[in-house]
Amino acid sequence: MLPDPAARKRIIEETYRKYTAFVNPGLAKVFRLTGETVEWEASGVVVRDVNGKEYLDFSGGPAVFVLGHRHPRVTAAVIEQIQRMPMSVRALPRPPEADLAELLAEVTPGDLRYSFFCNSGAEANEGAIKVARLATGRPGIIGTEGAFHGKTFGALSASGREKYRKPFEPLVPGFRHIPYGEAEALEAAIDGETAAFIVEPIQGESGVRIPPPDYLPRVREICDRRGILLIADEVQTGLGRTGRMFACDHAGITPDIMTLAKGLGGGVMPIGAFVARPHLWEKMAAEPFLHSSTFGGNQAACAAGVATIRTLVEEALPQRAAEMGAQLLDALRGMAQRHSGLIREVRGRGLLIGMEFSDPDIALMAAAWSITEGVFVYFSLNNPEVLRLAPPLIITPEQIATGVGRIDRALSEVTRLLAEMEVPS
Ligand code: PLP
Repeated sequence: MLPDPAARKRIIEETYRKYTAFVNPGLAKVFRLTGETVEWEASGVVVRDVNGKEYLDFSGGPAVFVLGHRHPRVTAAVIEQIQRMPMSVRALPRPPEADLAELLAEVTPGDLRYSFFCNSGAEANEGAIKVARLATGRPGIIGTEGAFHGKTFGALSASGREKYRKPFEPLVPGFRHIPYGEAEALEAAIDGETAAFIVEPIQGESGVRIPPPDYLPRVREICDRRGILLIADEVQTGLGRTGRMFACDHAGITPDIMTLAKGLGGGVMPIGAFVARPHLWEKMAAEPFLHSSTFGGNQAACAAGVATIRTLVEEALPQRAAEMGAQLLDALRGMAQRHSGLIREVRGRGLLIGMEFSDPDIALMAAAWSITEGVFVYFSLNNPEVLRLAPPLIITPEQIATGVGRIDRALSEVTRLLAEMEVPS
């Protein structure tokens, strides 16, 4: 329900004032670029601001809203759990955590089995890196250039963009980076100290970079032959987003550890997880408090996870992501031809799509005007030339057509503005 018009104005002014005074003035400035309003309510693929203006959510949070906003099965499961017992005393086992771990063992590839639950993607990667060191007794972690694994120290040490790393150095020792998509670089980088290779099956924040089809199978073979672990970061690509339940499924490989977050809480609760093969859990089992989290595995978040996975499976939503993704990719490529001066390439898999612009400023203008036109898109943290689209898997063909029409109008506006800005000769 929307507040009355006088209250709306006050809510907007107060929110911006408080962001400027108490959250972050820089962030408040960025938000002003996209129009002075605030998020208010959402349902399915549609978000409404406090003035009642509707936006199609093509950003998906990014990649959080696999089931859209407030999916009824997830909200019902969470409400039921909250009314009974939302958080854990941590003195006895909790059925929702047990159920979610069992479900993850069923849907993840191969013999991935044991899960640890946390609260974010960065935390999931922290845990995966710790388990890799614990299980191998070696410190070395190889990551990839352009990778994004989160912004806590271990996850940041594995990530590949200098802008986010440099101000916080020294980072965790033992990390090195190799070019993404080149299996031979991994072969050359492994030494006697290497515990694991951590990699995104598709680099999301780096602008939806899809590696060659033989990359992950070759990486798997190298890790096996050289005796190191493979950590697949499926925080962004997991849970149906790319047209299979996990992006690793396209390559037919099983990582030793898989990390998840974003979509796992069905857009209703924050939750992350790492899932590992049984032999990697031996030391975790011998010493079960070696790694822990106060809020990790809480009942409300796990209930959301259970409802999310059941919905994805029962409604065959990964398959739907493949079909809707093909339609969206086609429509965007058709549109890109009309704006070839602005867009270099449109690429993607399933409903994870990147639009690469000729310049980061043009990408920023395109994002701002798309939002003005009523469609949310998201920039890429590690590649600002690329706008990312990761809409809910429940998106309809009509919503795809409407959203692409809005982006098309936004790009025409960008072209007009750029022409106005040109100095006449
Ligand atoms: N890993 C990947 C592949 C991501 O895309 C992200 C976030 O964008 C993260 C990890 C970090 O997740 P979080 O922001 O929940 O810490």
